[in-house]
Amino acid sequence: MTARMINPSSVPVRQSSIRAHNLALLLNTVANSADPPSRAALATVTGLTRATVSALVDDLIAGGLLTELDPPPRTGAGRPAAGLALTAAGPAGLGCEINVDYLAACVVDLTGAVRQRFTEHADQRPAAAPDALAALGRLAARARLAAEAEGLVVAGMALAVPGLVSPAGLVRVAPNLGWQDVDAPALLRGVPEIADLPVVVDNEANLAALGELRVAGAEATFLYVSGEIGIGAGLVIDGELYRGVRGWSGEIGHLTVYPDGRPCRCGSRGCLEQYAGQEALTADEPLAAAALGIALSAAVNLLDVPMIVLGGAYALHFERLRAGIETELRRRVLTAGLAPVTLRAARLGTDAAVRGAADSVIRGVRDDPAGWLRRAG
Ligand SMILES: [Zn+2]
Repeated sequence: MTARMINPSSVPVRQSSIRAHNLALLLNTVANSADPPSRAALATVTGLTRATVSALVDDLIAGGLLTELDPPPRTGAGRPAAGLALTAAGPAGLGCEINVDYLAACVVDLTGAVRQRFTEHADQRPAAAPDALAALGRLAARARLAAEAEGLVVAGMALAVPGLVSPAGLVRVAPNLGWQDVDAPALLRGVPEIADLPVVVDNEANLAALGELRVAGAEATFLYVSGEIGIGAGLVIDGELYRGVRGWSGEIGHLTVYPDGRPCRCGSRGCLEQYAGQEALTADEPLAAAALGIALSAAVNLLDVPMIVLGGAYALHFERLRAGIETELRRRVLTAGLAPVTLRAARLGTDAAVRGAADSVIRGVRDDPAGWLRRAG
Protein backbone atom coordinates (compact mmCIF):
# COMPACT_ATOMS: atom_id res chain seq x y z
CA MET A 1 0.00 0.00 0.00
CA THR A 2 2.72 2.44 0.90
CA ALA A 3 6.39 2.65 0.00
CA ARG A 4 7.38 4.14 3.34
CA MET A 5 9.37 1.63 5.31
CA ILE A 6 8.77 2.40 8.93
CA ASN A 7 8.86 -0.28 11.51
CA PRO A 8 5.85 0.68 13.65
CA SER A 9 7.49 -0.59 16.85
CA SER A 10 10.43 1.81 16.42
CA VAL A 11 8.26 4.93 16.21
CA PRO A 12 7.40 5.37 19.89
CA VAL A 13 11.01 4.59 20.82
CA ARG A 14 12.32 7.22 18.45
CA GLN A 15 9.77 9.80 19.60
CA SER A 16 10.51 9.19 23.25
CA SER A 17 14.25 9.51 22.66
CA ILE A 18 13.71 12.78 20.76
CA ARG A 19 11.61 14.03 23.66
CA ALA A 20 14.33 12.97 26.14
CA HIS A 21 16.95 14.78 24.08
CA ASN A 22 14.88 17.95 23.85
CA LEU A 23 14.08 17.97 27.57
CA ALA A 24 17.82 17.77 28.34
CA LEU A 25 18.56 20.45 25.73
CA LEU A 26 16.03 22.85 27.29
CA LEU A 27 17.08 22.17 30.87
CA ASN A 28 20.78 22.67 30.09
CA THR A 29 20.05 25.79 28.04
CA VAL A 30 18.28 27.30 31.05
CA ALA A 31 21.14 26.14 33.33
CA ASN A 32 23.77 27.78 31.13
CA SER A 33 21.88 31.06 30.51
CA ALA A 34 23.21 34.19 32.20
CA ASP A 35 19.64 35.53 32.68
CA PRO A 36 16.41 33.53 33.08
CA PRO A 37 15.26 32.98 29.46
CA SER A 38 11.62 33.20 28.34
CA ARG A 39 9.95 30.37 26.41
CA ALA A 40 10.27 32.44 23.25
CA ALA A 41 14.01 32.94 23.86
CA LEU A 42 14.43 29.18 24.41
CA ALA A 43 12.74 28.51 21.07
CA THR A 44 15.14 30.91 19.34
CA VAL A 45 18.25 29.48 21.01
CA THR A 46 17.37 25.79 20.57
CA GLY A 47 15.66 25.97 17.17
CA LEU A 48 12.62 24.08 18.54
CA THR A 49 9.12 25.36 17.77
CA ARG A 50 7.43 27.52 20.38
CA ALA A 51 4.69 24.93 20.80
CA THR A 52 7.25 22.18 21.48
CA VAL A 53 9.17 24.39 23.90
CA SER A 54 6.00 25.29 25.79
CA ALA A 55 4.84 21.68 26.14
CA LEU A 56 8.25 20.45 27.32
CA VAL A 57 8.76 23.41 29.66
CA ASP A 58 5.37 22.62 31.22
CA ASP A 59 6.60 19.05 31.85
CA LEU A 60 9.86 20.33 33.39
CA ILE A 61 7.92 22.69 35.67
CA ALA A 62 5.44 19.97 36.67
CA GLY A 63 8.37 17.63 37.40
CA GLY A 64 9.97 20.14 39.77
CA LEU A 65 13.00 20.87 37.58
CA LEU A 66 12.20 24.38 36.34
CA THR A 67 10.44 27.27 37.93
CA GLU A 68 8.78 30.25 36.28
CA LEU A 69 9.85 33.56 37.78
CA ASP A 70 7.44 36.48 38.07
CA PRO A 71 7.65 38.66 34.97
CA PRO A 72 9.31 42.06 35.39
CA PRO A 73 6.92 45.03 35.88
CA ARG A 74 5.19 46.13 32.71
CA THR A 75 7.05 49.06 31.17
CA GLY A 76 5.68 49.43 27.65
CA ALA A 77 3.34 47.81 25.21
CA GLY A 78 2.80 44.05 25.39
CA ARG A 79 2.98 41.55 28.18
CA PRO A 80 6.47 40.98 29.64
CA ALA A 81 7.49 37.30 29.47
CA ALA A 82 8.20 35.24 32.57
CA GLY A 83 11.78 33.96 32.87
CA LEU A 84 12.64 30.33 33.53
CA ALA A 85 15.19 29.13 36.08
CA LEU A 86 16.33 25.86 37.64
CA THR A 87 14.34 25.17 40.77
CA ALA A 88 16.10 25.14 44.12
CA ALA A 89 13.33 22.96 45.61
CA GLY A 90 13.44 19.87 43.40
CA PRO A 91 15.94 17.05 42.98
CA ALA A 92 19.21 17.19 44.87
CA GLY A 93 22.49 15.27 44.84
CA LEU A 94 23.96 13.61 47.92
CA GLY A 95 27.78 13.63 47.88
CA CYS A 96 29.84 11.63 50.37
CA GLU A 97 33.53 11.32 50.96
CA ILE A 98 35.61 8.97 53.03
CA ASN A 99 39.18 9.95 53.58
CA VAL A 100 41.90 8.85 55.94
CA ASP A 101 41.09 11.41 58.62
CA TYR A 102 37.48 12.46 57.98
CA LEU A 103 34.02 11.56 56.68
CA ALA A 104 31.89 14.13 54.85
CA ALA A 105 28.42 14.36 53.35
CA CYS A 106 26.79 17.22 51.49
CA VAL A 107 23.60 17.90 49.57
CA VAL A 108 23.61 20.16 46.53
CA ASP A 109 20.41 21.35 44.83
CA LEU A 110 19.80 21.60 41.09
CA THR A 111 21.18 25.15 40.97
CA GLY A 112 24.48 23.93 42.47
CA ALA A 113 23.92 25.50 45.89
CA VAL A 114 25.12 23.55 48.94
CA ARG A 115 22.09 22.94 51.16
CA GLN A 116 23.51 20.61 53.81
CA ARG A 117 27.06 19.87 54.87
CA PHE A 118 28.24 17.45 57.57
CA THR A 119 31.79 16.44 58.53
CA GLU A 120 33.12 14.01 61.09
CA HIS A 121 36.83 14.16 61.89
CA ALA A 122 38.23 10.80 62.94
CA ASP A 123 41.12 8.59 61.85
CA GLN A 124 39.53 5.91 59.63
CA ARG A 125 42.61 3.70 59.45
CA PRO A 126 41.84 1.59 62.52
CA ALA A 127 38.24 0.99 61.34
CA ALA A 128 37.36 -1.99 59.16
CA ALA A 129 35.71 -1.02 55.86
CA PRO A 130 32.18 -2.15 56.92
CA ASP A 131 32.37 -0.02 60.09
CA ALA A 132 33.76 3.03 58.27
CA LEU A 133 31.09 2.80 55.56
CA ALA A 134 28.33 2.28 58.14
CA ALA A 135 29.47 5.48 59.90
CA LEU A 136 29.56 7.31 56.57
CA GLY A 137 26.10 5.93 55.69
CA ARG A 138 24.70 7.32 58.95
CA LEU A 139 26.23 10.74 58.18
CA ALA A 140 24.72 10.58 54.68
CA ALA A 141 21.34 9.67 56.17
CA ARG A 142 21.47 12.76 58.42
CA ALA A 143 22.26 14.96 55.42
CA ARG A 144 19.45 13.39 53.41
CA LEU A 145 16.86 13.80 56.18
CA ALA A 146 17.87 17.44 56.73
CA ALA A 147 17.62 18.14 52.98
CA GLU A 148 14.26 16.43 52.64
CA ALA A 149 12.95 18.43 55.61
CA GLU A 150 13.65 21.48 53.39
CA GLY A 151 11.53 20.02 50.60
CA LEU A 152 14.35 18.62 48.45
CA VAL A 153 14.24 15.14 46.90
CA VAL A 154 17.57 13.33 46.93
CA ALA A 155 17.99 11.76 43.48
CA GLY A 156 21.05 9.66 44.18
CA MET A 157 24.33 9.40 45.96
CA ALA A 158 27.97 9.51 44.88
CA LEU A 159 30.87 8.44 47.06
CA ALA A 160 34.44 9.74 46.77
CA VAL A 161 37.17 7.36 47.96
CA PRO A 162 40.97 7.72 47.96
CA GLY A 163 41.54 4.62 45.88
CA LEU A 164 41.09 2.77 42.62
CA VAL A 165 37.48 1.94 41.80
CA SER A 166 36.06 -0.51 39.25
CA PRO A 167 33.16 0.66 37.04
CA ALA A 168 30.73 -1.34 39.21
CA GLY A 169 31.78 0.62 42.30
CA LEU A 170 34.07 -1.99 43.82
CA VAL A 171 37.00 -0.30 45.58
CA ARG A 172 39.85 -2.45 44.27
CA VAL A 173 42.49 -0.86 46.47
CA ALA A 174 42.66 2.16 48.76
CA PRO A 175 46.19 1.87 50.17
CA ASN A 176 45.92 4.54 52.85
CA LEU A 177 42.67 3.10 54.21
CA GLY A 178 44.08 -0.44 53.99
CA TRP A 179 41.13 -1.49 51.79
CA GLN A 180 41.13 -4.18 49.15
CA ASP A 181 38.11 -5.27 47.08
CA VAL A 182 35.53 -3.46 49.20
CA ASP A 183 31.95 -3.52 47.84
CA ALA A 184 31.15 0.04 48.96
CA PRO A 185 27.63 0.30 47.41
CA ALA A 186 26.51 -2.93 49.14
CA LEU A 187 27.87 -1.79 52.51
CA LEU A 188 26.23 1.64 52.21
CA ARG A 189 22.91 -0.04 51.40
CA GLY A 190 23.14 -1.59 54.86
CA VAL A 191 22.02 1.78 56.26
CA PRO A 192 18.21 1.66 55.86
CA GLU A 193 17.65 5.42 55.45
CA ILE A 194 19.71 5.50 52.24
CA ALA A 195 19.24 1.93 51.02
CA ASP A 196 16.87 3.03 48.22
CA LEU A 197 19.33 5.49 46.60
CA PRO A 198 21.38 4.64 43.51
CA VAL A 199 25.08 4.81 44.48
CA VAL A 200 28.04 5.69 42.28
CA VAL A 201 31.59 5.31 43.62
CA ASP A 202 34.57 7.15 42.14
CA ASN A 203 38.09 8.20 42.98
CA GLU A 204 38.16 11.33 45.13
CA ALA A 205 40.54 13.25 42.85
CA ASN A 206 38.32 12.52 39.83
CA LEU A 207 35.25 13.84 41.62
CA ALA A 208 37.17 16.82 42.98
CA ALA A 209 38.35 17.65 39.46
CA LEU A 210 34.70 17.59 38.32
CA GLY A 211 33.79 19.85 41.25
CA GLU A 212 36.46 22.33 40.14
CA LEU A 213 35.30 22.06 36.55
CA ARG A 214 32.02 23.66 37.53
CA VAL A 215 33.88 26.76 38.71
CA ALA A 216 36.64 26.64 36.06
CA GLY A 217 34.34 26.86 33.02
CA ALA A 218 32.89 24.11 30.90
CA GLU A 219 35.73 23.85 28.35
CA ALA A 220 38.65 24.03 30.77
CA THR A 221 41.79 21.87 30.54
CA PHE A 222 43.68 21.36 33.77
CA LEU A 223 45.37 18.88 36.07
CA TYR A 224 43.77 18.76 39.51
CA VAL A 225 46.09 17.47 42.25
CA SER A 226 44.72 16.68 45.65
CA GLY A 227 46.95 16.50 48.71
CA GLU A 228 45.53 14.27 51.41
CA ILE A 229 47.35 11.52 53.31
CA GLY A 230 47.69 10.12 49.81
CA ILE A 231 47.96 12.23 46.64
CA GLY A 232 45.61 11.86 43.69
CA ALA A 233 45.14 13.68 40.42
CA GLY A 234 42.29 14.22 37.98
CA LEU A 235 43.07 15.21 34.40
CA VAL A 236 40.38 17.31 32.69
CA ILE A 237 40.73 17.85 28.94
CA ASP A 238 38.32 20.26 27.23
CA GLY A 239 35.81 19.84 30.03
CA GLU A 240 36.00 16.02 30.09
CA LEU A 241 37.64 13.90 32.75
CA TYR A 242 40.27 11.55 31.33
CA ARG A 243 40.03 8.36 33.37
CA GLY A 244 42.45 6.06 31.59
CA VAL A 245 41.54 2.73 30.02
CA ARG A 246 40.39 1.12 33.30
CA GLY A 247 39.57 4.31 35.18
CA TRP A 248 42.79 4.25 37.14
CA SER A 249 44.64 7.28 35.81
CA GLY A 250 45.91 10.01 38.10
CA GLU A 251 48.09 8.09 40.57
CA ILE A 252 50.54 10.97 40.69
CA GLY A 253 51.36 10.12 44.32
CA HIS A 254 53.42 7.19 43.06
CA LEU A 255 55.42 9.11 40.50
CA THR A 256 59.09 8.66 41.42
CA VAL A 257 60.76 11.89 42.50
CA TYR A 258 63.88 10.44 44.19
CA PRO A 259 64.72 6.92 42.83
CA ASP A 260 66.72 5.90 45.90
CA GLY A 261 64.45 7.69 48.33
CA ARG A 262 62.11 6.73 51.12
CA PRO A 263 60.27 3.39 50.88
CA CYS A 264 56.60 3.75 49.95
CA ARG A 265 53.53 1.80 51.00
CA CYS A 266 53.16 0.72 47.34
CA GLY A 267 56.44 -1.25 47.49
CA SER A 268 58.48 1.24 45.46
CA ARG A 269 60.88 3.95 46.63
CA GLY A 270 60.99 7.72 46.42
CA CYS A 271 57.32 8.22 45.50
CA LEU A 272 55.93 11.76 45.61
CA GLU A 273 53.56 10.72 48.40
CA GLN A 274 56.50 10.12 50.74
CA TYR A 275 57.60 13.76 50.37
CA ALA A 276 54.39 15.66 49.74
CA GLY A 277 51.60 13.60 51.35
CA GLN A 278 49.83 15.45 54.15
CA GLU A 279 52.03 14.06 56.91
CA ALA A 280 55.32 14.78 55.06
CA LEU A 281 53.98 18.20 54.10
CA THR A 282 53.43 19.15 57.72
CA ALA A 283 56.94 17.97 58.60
CA ASP A 284 58.86 19.79 55.83
CA GLU A 285 57.06 22.27 53.57
CA PRO A 286 60.03 23.29 51.37
CA LEU A 287 60.88 19.64 50.65
CA ALA A 288 57.19 18.97 49.83
CA ALA A 289 57.10 21.97 47.46
CA ALA A 290 60.25 20.83 45.64
CA ALA A 291 59.00 17.24 45.30
CA LEU A 292 55.63 18.49 44.01
CA GLY A 293 57.39 20.79 41.56
CA ILE A 294 59.47 17.89 40.21
CA ALA A 295 56.42 15.63 39.76
CA LEU A 296 54.25 18.38 38.26
CA SER A 297 57.02 19.32 35.81
CA ALA A 298 57.06 15.72 34.55
CA ALA A 299 53.26 15.84 34.16
CA VAL A 300 53.33 19.14 32.26
CA ASN A 301 56.15 18.00 29.96
CA LEU A 302 54.14 14.87 29.14
CA LEU A 303 50.63 16.32 28.91
CA ASP A 304 50.97 20.00 27.89
CA VAL A 305 48.29 21.15 30.34
CA PRO A 306 48.15 24.93 30.79
CA MET A 307 46.87 24.91 34.38
CA ILE A 308 47.43 23.02 37.61
CA VAL A 309 44.83 23.26 40.37
CA LEU A 310 45.98 22.28 43.86
CA GLY A 311 43.33 20.97 46.23
CA GLY A 312 42.93 19.22 49.58
CA ALA A 313 45.68 20.16 52.04
CA TYR A 314 47.55 21.89 49.18
CA ALA A 315 44.76 24.44 48.92
CA LEU A 316 45.27 25.32 52.60
CA HIS A 317 49.08 25.53 52.24
CA PHE A 318 48.99 27.06 48.74
CA GLU A 319 50.66 30.41 49.41
CA ARG A 320 53.56 28.77 51.24
CA LEU A 321 54.07 26.05 48.60
CA ARG A 322 53.72 28.21 45.53
CA ALA A 323 57.26 29.66 45.18
CA GLY A 324 58.96 26.28 45.69
CA ILE A 325 56.76 24.58 43.10
CA GLU A 326 57.15 27.40 40.57
CA THR A 327 60.96 27.27 40.91
CA GLU A 328 60.92 23.62 39.80
CA LEU A 329 58.39 24.26 37.02
CA ARG A 330 60.61 27.04 35.60
CA ARG A 331 63.67 24.83 35.85
CA ARG A 332 62.19 21.61 34.44
CA VAL A 333 59.30 22.36 32.08
CA LEU A 334 60.76 22.56 28.58
CA THR A 335 58.22 25.14 27.42
CA ALA A 336 58.19 27.23 30.63
CA GLY A 337 59.82 30.15 28.79
CA LEU A 338 57.24 30.02 25.99
CA ALA A 339 54.06 29.69 28.04
CA PRO A 340 54.17 29.68 31.83
CA VAL A 341 51.95 27.15 33.58
CA THR A 342 49.15 28.66 35.68
CA LEU A 343 49.22 27.34 39.24
CA ARG A 344 46.26 28.02 41.50
CA ALA A 345 44.52 26.74 44.62
CA ALA A 346 41.25 24.84 44.26
CA ARG A 347 38.37 27.30 44.56
CA LEU A 348 36.39 24.74 46.53
CA GLY A 349 39.34 24.13 48.87
CA THR A 350 39.08 20.90 50.83
CA ASP A 351 35.40 20.56 49.83
CA ALA A 352 36.12 19.83 46.17
CA ALA A 353 35.65 16.04 46.30
CA VAL A 354 32.43 15.95 48.31
CA ARG A 355 31.00 18.83 46.23
CA GLY A 356 32.08 17.13 43.01
CA ALA A 357 30.37 13.94 44.19
CA ALA A 358 27.08 15.76 44.83
CA ASP A 359 27.45 17.66 41.54
CA SER A 360 27.89 14.41 39.63
CA VAL A 361 24.42 13.30 40.79
CA ILE A 362 22.94 16.65 39.74
CA ARG A 363 24.69 16.42 36.38
CA GLY A 364 23.02 13.04 35.90
CA VAL A 365 19.57 14.61 36.44
CA ARG A 366 20.39 17.55 34.15
CA ASP A 367 21.59 15.24 31.38
CA ASP A 368 18.57 12.91 31.66
CA PRO A 369 15.55 14.88 32.89
CA ALA A 370 13.25 12.38 31.14
CA GLY A 371 14.60 9.65 33.42
CA TRP A 372 13.98 11.83 36.46
CA LEU A 373 10.42 12.67 35.34
CA ARG A 374 9.72 8.94 34.87
CA ARG A 375 11.00 8.11 38.34
CA ALA A 376 9.32 11.11 39.99
CA GLY A 377 6.03 10.51 38.14
ZN1 LIG B 1 54.40 4.64 46.07
